[in-house]
Amino acid sequence: MTIRCSILGDRLSRTTVISWSPTTDGASASFYLVNCLVALTLMILNVTTASAAGAGSGMTNNTAAVTNKAVFLIVDGIPADVIERVVTPNLDAIAKVGGYTRAEVGGPLNGPAETPTVSAPGYMSLVTGTWANKHNVYGNAGLTPNYDYWNLFRLAKSVEPPLQTGIFSTWTDNRTVLLGAGLANAGSVTIDFVADGFETDAQLFPHAPQDRHIQAIDRHVAAEAARVIEQAGPDLSWVYLQYTDDVGHARGDSPELDAAVEVMDELVGTVWSAVQARAAGHDEDWLILITTDHGRDVATGRDHGGQSERERTTWMVTNSHRLSPRFYQRPAIVDIYPSLARHLEISLPASVAAHLDGRSFIE
Ligand SMILES: [Zn+2]
Repeated sequence: MTIRCSILGDRLSRTTVISWSPTTDGASASFYLVNCLVALTLMILNVTTASAAGAGSGMTNNTAAVTNKAVFLIVDGIPADVIERVVTPNLDAIAKVGGYTRAEVGGPLNGPAETPTVSAPGYMSLVTGTWANKHNVYGNAGLTPNYDYWNLFRLAKSVEPPLQTGIFSTWTDNRTVLLGAGLANAGSVTIDFVADGFETDAQLFPHAPQDRHIQAIDRHVAAEAARVIEQAGPDLSWVYLQYTDDVGHARGDSPELDAAVEVMDELVGTVWSAVQARAAGHDEDWLILITTDHGRDVATGRDHGGQSERERTTWMVTNSHRLSPRFYQRPAIVDIYPSLARHLEISLPASVAAHLDGRSFIE
């Protein structure tokens, strides 16, 4: 089922369409409809504000303060040596504006905070700014996250309630389990714009050989993220693309993995183009940050989870022009949380700051 809502802004002579698909039940449909209405309301307010400014001064609105916005992307299971070898023009273009660095996951070795180089523990370390001994996610299934360590979305909604958030993801558990969206014991956090659930929709994305349907979902997710970012400009968004890890497990280091990385780069380009288009039309300072959740084993490239150098070595790309030396000193995935908070100018409550395991690489 697709809900499609549209608004024709007469002054701007353009049609804005935000559609959400697919939803398979009434509850999800209502949820998406609410998102849709929120987006349209924002659009109307936007048009009204622009009209008022135009009528009053006859000039474009150039007195508003710049609003900082951020989108981070996790692209799954791509070792640093692979991202450095494969041709990735979009990542290169973003890094040219900001920077590229090798980074790490896995936590401090041989101590209580050592964290498996596994997907969900990696995502959770990013969104909570803590290692697994705090967030309590050690694998990809049977998860019992410790929600006492506020994730970025809970932080945003708690400290700056007007902030709008979005998640565009090939794995629904990122929202429902890791963030605990809607769960009372996770702060009853609402995500304003959601595009996920596609991996369980066999009708829209039927299972295909070599998990090609996952790549199709990645493509859809990136397109939805791009559309919402350009049209509604959520303050904080998470985009998650999975297919590269599927190919890694199936084929290891191979031309197929390289090809999947090239497609991933194309999808990053889709989001980056939307960010640029959005920024060009608004007084907004956009941060985009792309990273991966773990490397892969040296022998075959099929596995991960251990603490070998290649499994621990990841990377980050960002357009930020406020990078501190810390960015080039092998930052950890837990450094992203305070960095995004810094960019968004969210002041950390003392109770949150006290438990963070990372530090900002943004001035
Ligand atoms: Zn992974």
